[in-house]
Amino acid sequence: MFKTYIQEINNIRDLESVINYYYPNQLKRNKMSCPFHKDKTPSFSIVHKGNGAFYKCFSCSEGGDIIKFIQKTENIPFIQALQKAYEILNKPLNLPNIKTNTSKSLNKENLINFYNNKYEKSLQEGDLDKAFELSCKSDEVTNKKYNIIYPFVNKKGEPMKMKY
Ligand SMILES: [Zn+2]
Repeated sequence: MFKTYIQEINNIRDLESVINYYYPNQLKRNKMSCPFHKDKTPSFSIVHKGNGAFYKCFSCSEGGDIIKFIQKTENIPFIQALQKAYEILNKPLNLPNIKTNTSKSLNKENLINFYNNKYEKSLQEGDLDKAFELSCKSDEVTNKKYNIIYPFVNKKGEPMKMKY
């Protein structure tokens, strides 16, 4: 499943949009000066091949796919880079519901901690599917995309979101 999340991003093949997000108007005919080293000539280029879009610098030999580009540019871990890819490419993430099983006194901070602790645990266990989903959940709460009112918990014990 984690592979599916990666695949979804690579299938979009839109490395151009990601590069434009960080370096607007730099790309010309799939080439630009390499952002990863001091580059006088445009040694950095994009190729579409097989199941994705890739970049390669012929001078410093840095290369990779969309997620690697984000990871390298932002200097963040792979899972966060994958999340960021969804954000930049405006692709909705359909995450499964994650059970919280906690008491009714959930507040926002507790919920973030809850997801973060589970995230760390999943990472240690090598469950990347879960880790990715939990990391997204935690960000979703942190980013205040909606206001959360607790202590409302639904029948399954999951926290309820309320938009207003
Ligand atoms: Zn380079």
